[in-house]
Amino acid sequence: MHTDLSIPEKLYALQERITKISEQYGRATNTVKLLAVSKSQSDENIRIAYEAGQRLFGESYVQEALQKQEKLVDLPIEWHFIGQLQSNKAKLIAQHFSWVHSISSLSIAERLNQYHSGNLPPLNCCIQVNIGNEKTKTGLEPEQVQAFARHIIHLPNLHWRGLMTIPAFTSDVSVQRQQFSKMKELLATLKLDYPWLDTLSMGMSGDFEMAIAEGATILRIGTAIFGVRVYTHVC
Ligand SMILES: *Cc1c(COP(=O)(O)O)cnc(C)c1O
Repeated sequence: MHTDLSIPEKLYALQERITKISEQYGRATNTVKLLAVSKSQSDENIRIAYEAGQRLFGESYVQEALQKQEKLVDLPIEWHFIGQLQSNKAKLIAQHFSWVHSISSLSIAERLNQYHSGNLPPLNCCIQVNIGNEKTKTGLEPEQVQAFARHIIHLPNLHWRGLMTIPAFTSDVSVQRQQFSKMKELLATLKLDYPWLDTLSMGMSGDFEMAIAEGATILRIGTAIFGVRVYTHVC
C-alpha cells in the first residue's frame, strides 16, 4: 500500500481490492466485511475513516478504546474487541463493545455473559483458534473447539457467531491459504451442530487475499488503512 495516500484514499483502494478479490474467488456480493483495526490510531483518524464510510472499528486495548469511544460518542460506530482478554477487563468490554473476537477461556466467556446487559442485544462472539499450533499464540487448539462450544451456547447474553484466528505469520501465500482452509473446514464441521454460525474473522493487511479465498467474512485490517502503527497505547 502507498504510504503517501490519505486515509480515505487507502480505504477506497482497499475496498476496491476486496471487491475485486471477492469476485475473483466467487464470493457473493457483500459477504466480506471490513473491520478497520484502529488500535494506536487517534480518534481524529477514526473520524476521518468514518466520514469516508467506514462503520466497523476494532480495538485491542480497553482503556485506549474507551478514551476514543468517549470522543466519538456522536458516531454510530460498531465497536469490536479483538485483543487479549483479561478477566479484570471483562466488565468494561461487555459494556462497551458489540463484538468480542478473541474468546478462548470459559471463565472469561462467563464473565462477559454476566456483565453484558440483558436489555441489549446479545454480545456477538467468536472463538479464537490457534490454527498455526504456535506455542506463543492464544486461542484454542482446533480439537478443543467442540467441547468449548457446548458450554458457550448456554450463555444467554452471548451470541456465538463463529471463529477467529491470527495464523502463524508467513509471507508464503500457499501456507497462508492452508491455514485459512483449516479454519473454513472447522467452521463447516461446527455448522452441522450449530447452523446459525456465520462468521470467520480472519485476514489482516498482509494475508487478506487468501482469507477471502477461504471464506473470511470479517477482515481485520489496520496497516493498509492507517499506515504503520506507532505504539503508544496504555493498557
Ligand atoms: C493489529 C491486529 C490486526 C491488524 O493487523 P494489520 O496487519 O495492521 O492489518 C488484526 N487482528 C488483530 C487481532 C490485531 O491485533
